Amino acid sequence: MTFPTKYPSGGEKQLIEILTGKQVPTGGLPADLGIVCQNPGTAVAARDAVCFGKPLTDRIVTLTGRALARPGNYRARLGTPIEHLLTVAGFDPSQNRRLIHGGPMMGFALESSAVPIIKTTNCILVPTEQELPTPPDAQACIRCGLCAEACPASLLPQQLYWYARAKDQEQLERHHLADCIECGACSWVCPSHIPLVQYYRAAKGMIKESKTEKIRSDRSRDRFEARQERLERETLAREEQRAARRAAAEQKAAAGGADDPVAAAIARAKAKKDSAGDESANS
Ligand code: SF4
Ligand code: SF4
Repeated sequence: MTFPTKYPSGGEKQLIEILTGKQVPTGGLPADLGIVCQNPGTAVAARDAVCFGKPLTDRIVTLTGRALARPGNYRARLGTPIEHLLTVAGFDPSQNRRLIHGGPMMGFALESSAVPIIKTTNCILVPTEQELPTPPDAQACIRCGLCAEACPASLLPQQLYWYARAKDQEQLERHHLADCIECGACSWVCPSHIPLVQYYRAAKGMIKESKTEKIRSDRSRDRFEARQERLERETLAREEQRAARRAAAEQKAAAGGADDPVAAAIARAKAKKDSAGDESANS
């Protein structure tokens, strides 16, 4: 089988489709197809954890770009400052204007190198200005459709862009924002230099936040309704007990009244008093 060396063939969903012909369902996981797709780093970390009880404390980080004298793959402990790794790799700050966490397509610019390596830090890109020029300012969308042609997930990036700007969650979901793999291909081909993928990331964050907020408010509504039901059950039970006591007292009074009318009157008064006491305790 020939495997296309076309970006982003290495993406999980694309890889599965190319190799098996199966598509991961919208909003689903490869596991829904009975498939698990792991990168080698994750597979090694899982082996270390399961077979040797070794936690993930370090990982391989690719340091690359012409602003480094010694680019390469480095094993770094999680938490290592990126600036330390750059020093080890011979970083020349005069050659570089942007530090990128991740690859050239899916990575994001770092404000500072004083941040640590984390378990998802696969690559730090340290390009020269000639290697990766600073993108020009974004212009208005000219509706050329190039982004849709480039999208490997067959989405409509232009529409997603409008809906992301409008914060229209319903339309974003209808246009399958969740299926965007954030490959950056649409941003790359956009002649207006619109950072489309950044809009999608922000929109995904917004949707996630509002779903979390909905779950939180659903839970507090359920708690409130459960409490109301419990209070109603308790009130009903107390009323039933009160009625039973009153009936018993009246029965007793009726039985005793034939022999002693004074004792019957006292019993009736006592039942009435008990009943009044319950009501004031419940109020
Ligand atoms: S590639 Fe850019 S300019 Fe063209 S339709 Fe897409 S967003 Fe608009
Ligand atoms: S980043 Fe753009 S090209 Fe890539 S999947 Fe998302 S919409 Fe499609």
